[in-house]
Amino acid sequence: MRATVMYGAGDVRVETVPDARIVERTDALVTVTRACICGSDLWPYQKMKHRETGNRMGHEFIGIVDAVGADVRTVKKGDLVMAPFAWSDGTCEFCRKGLQTSCLHGGWWGGTTLDGGQGEAVRIPQADGTLVVLPVGRDHTLMPSLLTLTDVMGTGHHAALSAKVGPGKITAVVGDGAVGLCGVIAARRLGAEQIIMLGRHADRIALAREFGATDIVSERGDAAIERVRDLTGGLGAHSVLECVGHRESTITALGIARPGGAVGRVGVPQYEDMPAAIPTFFANITIAGGPAPVRAYMAELLPDVLEGRIQPGRVFDRITNLDGVPDGYRAMNAREAIKVMIKF
Ligand SMILES: [Zn+2]
Repeated sequence: MRATVMYGAGDVRVETVPDARIVERTDALVTVTRACICGSDLWPYQKMKHRETGNRMGHEFIGIVDAVGADVRTVKKGDLVMAPFAWSDGTCEFCRKGLQTSCLHGGWWGGTTLDGGQGEAVRIPQADGTLVVLPVGRDHTLMPSLLTLTDVMGTGHHAALSAKVGPGKITAVVGDGAVGLCGVIAARRLGAEQIIMLGRHADRIALAREFGATDIVSERGDAAIERVRDLTGGLGAHSVLECVGHRESTITALGIARPGGAVGRVGVPQYEDMPAAIPTFFANITIAGGPAPVRAYMAELLPDVLEGRIQPGRVFDRITNLDGVPDGYRAMNAREAIKVMIKF
């Protein structure tokens, strides 16, 4: 089969790799119908040191079950399924608490040992705990929005929950990528009154406004903090969603939270130590977040997508096939595309 392999910064190839196959009795084999490129795939695209073996890529996908192992009960051959960006057994202490990204028997797609979503087929470990059956056909018009439930919409929702967004609260979103845009949708869905988007790309800002952003802040650093203070009566936001992961964006996020407020971090940190320890301590700011347990949120968000109440699939502004994946990485990294969908 063919799949995407990253060998180092800027070096993404589509190659022939060993066919995906069932290994354990709890596995399923899925033929991928849709996948996408994630903002987090751009971190290795910018930084990865060259490696002879390369890393299989992709952690957001929908596909058709081709075969199941002897112990699989909840999915069957022919089902259209979506997979969260981490696989999990669904039964351990953490899965039962809705924290599937910490599953005791789970893990992450791709790398050197597992298939990735940016390929023709994927071996699914722990299929019962991991996969969710979709009640639509493989080319349904809602496919883009359904695909966002595998990561970015669930991640935006996690940022909003971690930042304690609620009715009447002032929310600020740091980062105008697909996750930040989904964070705007999530904040509005949870009842935020004022939603301030910090971003500077015209196409993304326009979409943020359509998703519910009420104010746009295009400044950066201290100027951005000052601008948000101006927009919030000098007090800062109750809830801040950090959807980038840079040290600078995190300092901004922590700086615009009001005393007693909360910051939900979902951008994968590109820094070692948490900044602003002293001011956030004296302001009693809650700092929460991490990899979103999107498997837990699929059931909650799926009806909103199926019934058209939210349209997170609008973050996709480019569609390609498998051969176009390397150029998709280039386009997202150059900010020519917000998010690229791969159609098989
Ligand atoms: Zn588990």
